[in-house]
Amino acid sequence: MNNVEQSTTSDNKKSLNFIEVIVEKDLKEGKNDGRIQTRFPPEPNGYLHIGHAKAICIDFGIAEKYNGVCNLRFDDTNPVKEDVEYVDSIMDDIHWLGFEWDEVLYASDYFPQLWDFAVQLIKEDKAYIDEQSAEDIAKQKGTPTNPGTNSPYRDRPIEESLQLFEKMNSGDLPEGAMVLRAKIDMAASNMHLRDPIIYRIIHTPHHRTGTNWKAYPMYDFAHGQSDYFEGVTHSICTLEFEVHRPLYDWFIDQLADSDYRPHQYEFNRLNLTYTMMSKRKLLQLVQEKLVSGWNDPRMPTLSGLRRRGYTPESIRNFVDSIGYTKYDGMNDLALLEHSIKEDLNAKTHRVSGVLDPIKLIITNYPEDKTEMMETINNPEDESMGSREIAFTKELYIERDDFMEDAPKKYFRLTPGREVRLKSAYIVMCTGCKKDDNGNVTEVYAEYDPETRSGMPQSGRRVKGTIHWISVPHSVNTEVRLYDRLFTVEDPANVKDQDFKELINPDSLKILKNCKVEECLKDAKAGDSFQFQRIGYFNVDIDSTPGNMVFNRTVPLRDSWARKK
Ligand code: ATP
Ligand code: MG
Repeated sequence: MNNVEQSTTSDNKKSLNFIEVIVEKDLKEGKNDGRIQTRFPPEPNGYLHIGHAKAICIDFGIAEKYNGVCNLRFDDTNPVKEDVEYVDSIMDDIHWLGFEWDEVLYASDYFPQLWDFAVQLIKEDKAYIDEQSAEDIAKQKGTPTNPGTNSPYRDRPIEESLQLFEKMNSGDLPEGAMVLRAKIDMAASNMHLRDPIIYRIIHTPHHRTGTNWKAYPMYDFAHGQSDYFEGVTHSICTLEFEVHRPLYDWFIDQLADSDYRPHQYEFNRLNLTYTMMSKRKLLQLVQEKLVSGWNDPRMPTLSGLRRRGYTPESIRNFVDSIGYTKYDGMNDLALLEHSIKEDLNAKTHRVSGVLDPIKLIITNYPEDKTEMMETINNPEDESMGSREIAFTKELYIERDDFMEDAPKKYFRLTPGREVRLKSAYIVMCTGCKKDDNGNVTEVYAEYDPETRSGMPQSGRRVKGTIHWISVPHSVNTEVRLYDRLFTVEDPANVKDQDFKELINPDSLKILKNCKVEECLKDAKAGDSFQFQRIGYFNVDIDSTPGNMVFNRTVPLRDSWARKK
């Protein structure tokens, strides 16, 4: 299912992706005087998602690699859906990913130039005002195998179109009253060339130009021309724009007065299982409060992933590993999870977190004694050092690390069997206490003093190792367990069912009574840890002093006890 075409070897001899191949060829041939210029062109109508990260990595990446320029250009041609909130978040997210633009530009800055160009097309008899309804225009489009029908307004006098075009922008006409269309060919085999609409009337004020304009260019009319005005050489976008390319080139041909031409190249968009990338649908989730906001840790947005504990490196590595191809497909969420696990494995301290605590009492351990046990912060990286954790008579362990009637292969606590308490002693389980309903309330064990590190029996091996936290040295915390947002692989393409009905009811579980090591009480929002044997967790922005909140970024598939 995945289009993994590039090798993902770690050596720097990695094969070039097809866009890099094109760029290197152009450089070799001396095209555009050796100049490389790209742009990242988001519409400020939502927050960026991981699909955009793929576009960002290639747009900025190409410029970085080939000493070129990449501008951030907001494609703000539809005031109805756009807002400055989105402009700000988009800039934050690009910086967070680790990229820097040359200039911030707005398609709306070109409205005067685009207007003049439209007037030029009318004067050259290459555009006309059509007063038909949108439905009638659609009916005349024809089909890919049948030519369309000319509009009855197609051959109206140039003067009339010029006057009406002014009127479109006057505010005197209701939306939909008329449109400006390019006069190309209603029989063209490419449907986009069948007299495409290039201007429409919108009365909603624009977040930058206010009420200056009432007539707004369509995406197709603004995009390529903006590329041209800026001097873009490689206009990289996703495959759905491939069929727009002849129109892109047609406009540029009308506009260009030299040999310079921007060229459009298309790559496969990122689609990820168990989520969706449509901004329109993500906006619905936010507006209908099905998630807590654009940065809900279940969202595929960059702000959601960041809050969830994803690092920029993990996202860039993931994008790198799936590569750029010419074939659309679906990428497995597990690959993204693999990438964050790999990154956090290298970077995080191993700490104890107990999600469902039960007390373990070491009955033969002195009441008032505290021993400090040395524990390694990250076995993957010696330079991260070690720390000391307190050991006392009363410990918290996971409830499911005890079982009263355990099968033979249960290598955790059960009466009569031994386990090692990580970084401390081997203990022998002796029993438990239950309440009136038969629920276990406390577990009992005896420790073997000879088995602490440095002691004669420290090397003695037992089958299981479990984690623990000293009760007086623990901090209570809330933990939010996140899981995939949808129950099906491709929720955007399920027929006969609203995508909102496919939301995973278990995508968020909140645990209020979890315990973490005391040393975590000063951790700051965004700090990540491995809760050993459980998964990677980070401090949520909802944390307050004395009221910590951790998000589960991703569970560990195998517990370290089993891996050992
Ligand atoms: P909408 O959902 O509103 O149509 P969009 O997802 O296309 O918007 P834009 O803001 O137009 O978002 O996208 C900016 C750039 O990001 C475009 O070049 C687009 O091709 C690219 N992009 C968008 N979605 C993806 C994706 N899933 N994978 C790769 N690139 C993407
Ligand atoms: Mg778009």
